[in-house]
Amino acid sequence: MRFGFDIDDTLINLREHAFQLYKTKLNKEVPIEEFHKLQRVEIHEPFGLSEEEGNKMWKSSLEEIYFTDCPVFPGAVETVNRLVELGHEVFYITARPKKHGERTKQWMIEQGFPIHTGHFFYGMEDHEKIHIIKDLYLDYYVDDKPTILETLSEEPIKVYLKDQSYNRDSRFNRIVDWVEFLPIINE
Ligand SMILES: [Mg+2]
Repeated sequence: MRFGFDIDDTLINLREHAFQLYKTKLNKEVPIEEFHKLQRVEIHEPFGLSEEEGNKMWKSSLEEIYFTDCPVFPGAVETVNRLVELGHEVFYITARPKKHGERTKQWMIEQGFPIHTGHFFYGMEDHEKIHIIKDLYLDYYVDDKPTILETLSEEPIKVYLKDQSYNRDSRFNRIVDWVEFLPIINE
């Protein structure tokens, strides 16, 4: 079978990592509970930043957010490697900007993700992911953003949401912990 995965906040804990970086950079002690309460993808509000300041902060921190020691979600590397061992095809589809694409691929390989040539896609907008996902004839796709899964609702793809504080209202089947994934696909 063919599996597709989003990267940020699906396979790796990017926003929480960024939240920790913001604490250091802004020298502000914001409790982690504030992070877990967030009802949106953006993380700047608990730091008292405006939309514009938050946007600027994110963009100017991108290098550190992406390429330092962002933790992978427990079980994610093992799950994806197991899929490959079982003979499945694994694809990565990330909306990270084009200029960070190749380095992101390298970083993911360093974290232990199996990435075959031609199986790594980046630089598209969220709403454009559908075209790649359709063209790949995926059987399964996992993302943290319900809006992306909604664009796939007409497609014969089994979609799963990676559980996050901002997507709990969504009706999609969800994965809270990566250890749940292999049992799900074997059902
Ligand atoms: Mg994501």
